[in-house]
Amino acid sequence: MNPNLRTELLRVVGQLRSYVLYHKELGLEALPWSKRSPQTLREVREKLGDCQRCRLSRTRKSLVFGEGNEKARLVFVGEGPGYEEDLQGRPFVGKAGQLLTRIIDAMSMKRDHVYITNVVKCRPPQNRSPWPDEIACCYPFLANQLRIIQPTVICALGSAAAQTLLDTNAGITTLRGTFHTWEGIKVMPTFHPAYLLRNPERKGETWEDMKAVQKEVAKGPR
Ligand code: URA
Repeated sequence: MNPNLRTELLRVVGQLRSYVLYHKELGLEALPWSKRSPQTLREVREKLGDCQRCRLSRTRKSLVFGEGNEKARLVFVGEGPGYEEDLQGRPFVGKAGQLLTRIIDAMSMKRDHVYITNVVKCRPPQNRSPWPDEIACCYPFLANQLRIIQPTVICALGSAAAQTLLDTNAGITTLRGTFHTWEGIKVMPTFHPAYLLRNPERKGETWEDMKAVQKEVAKGPR
């Protein structure tokens, strides 16, 4: 082994040893980060298991984790599964999903190039918006998905996704159109496809947002 590397390694190991001993002397039995965070999407899914952390588990048919490329440069985050998604166990496969697929196509990408998930993984009854405690239960899993994928851009679809990721109460009309950041990753909020189905006159604004996203993604990794 290169002698400089060996010295450096010994120094780091020595520092770690004294750090651990110091905490042991303080009476700590575990280091604060000793709960190893998941390293793959499969591990995040395993941690969710047959999730019963919130009331949405009682009415769901499927837990809709997300799908796509683990190395995606672009991740879409929606609000939560709807009727079709709950039936099929896949995100964005209903009418709004078909529009999202067309948006992805128009960006010269394919669904399996990107990753698609939601703020909450279980369908809220009657497609109501998820409640804050439900979002809070699911957020650590979304955060781990994003930390593992490390995309160049996150596209937040609609206000639930944008407000959750950006920790704000501002509306989607205010937030969309410019990049924000989540843990150093660029976030572009835009209108939710279901909203665009009801308000097709706003599709142009989403297309402007998607062009900005496309440009950023083309620049390559951060
Ligand atoms: N709406 C969402 O927010 N997510 C889906 O997966 C489907 C519809």
